[in-house]
Amino acid sequence: MSEIIGIDIGGTNFRIGIADGSGNVSDFRKVSVKSVLKSADVLKDIAGYISSYAGGRVYDAVAIGFPATLNRERTRILQAPNLPFMENLPVTEYLSAALGVPVFAERDVTFALYYDMMKYGVPHEGITCGIYFGTGIGNAIMIDGVPLPGRNGAAGELGHIPVDGSDEPCGCGLTGCMENLAGGKYLARLQREVWPETDIADTFTLHGDDVRIAEYISRMAMCISAEVNILDPDYVIVGGGVPDMKGFPREALHREIIAHTRKPLPAGNLRVIYADDEPGKCVAGAGYYACDRMIGW
Ligand SMILES: [Zn+2]
Repeated sequence: MSEIIGIDIGGTNFRIGIADGSGNVSDFRKVSVKSVLKSADVLKDIAGYISSYAGGRVYDAVAIGFPATLNRERTRILQAPNLPFMENLPVTEYLSAALGVPVFAERDVTFALYYDMMKYGVPHEGITCGIYFGTGIGNAIMIDGVPLPGRNGAAGELGHIPVDGSDEPCGCGLTGCMENLAGGKYLARLQREVWPETDIADTFTLHGDDVRIAEYISRMAMCISAEVNILDPDYVIVGGGVPDMKGFPREALHREIIAHTRKPLPAGNLRVIYADDEPGKCVAGAGYYACDRMIGW
């Protein structure tokens, strides 16, 4: 059995654990990104943190997920709006030399999809789309068990499809991206501008009947249906923090997905799995990913 150090670096939190490649995680820790990446030499900081975390433990590989676009070779980050200081650094080359084990870098959402495919028993054959609604919209596409990278490594950026009706700048540098209207950031904006007295966690329970929430749910569905209408996938996995919020109208979302999906098929037999949001998901998924890369699924 392999021992993988799985890491999930978000905009705020740095999560780390020992993943065994079977979905189990031990010694899971969540600390602030600032407490790990604290000097001008962030790769040295990461290497130092991993070494002290591991102590004397022997491990087979390290797999790190980033909220970012990566190059096709998955050796460096192209763009990370939340971690701009990580861009263009030789992540895998530096860390594998420093730690003496293989180091894999990937998009965090790909680790989430590996985890959910294993958890929900989704076959590797065929097309599986993972769509995760957090602050933004994460998207990974798996074809016959292989993540679709795209020519530059930048495939599967569903949150950044252009839409009418948004003149807000997006973290990616564009204006008018779908995630401004269908990501959790839209809910945060509603809360700030319309319901400042409401805790954002209560948005759906207190304002679920508001037309703006219905429109928001419809836009989430449009994202999902857009990808379904292009790819006709075997499975769609929908997850992330937003669908996991209290009172989230899942049935309304599903109705809207079917409404926007091409008839008679794929709407007629669409398979959507609504995945639980779990804090260690990407760390466990990192274990699956590293094992896949080293020995196959
Ligand atoms: Zn964007």
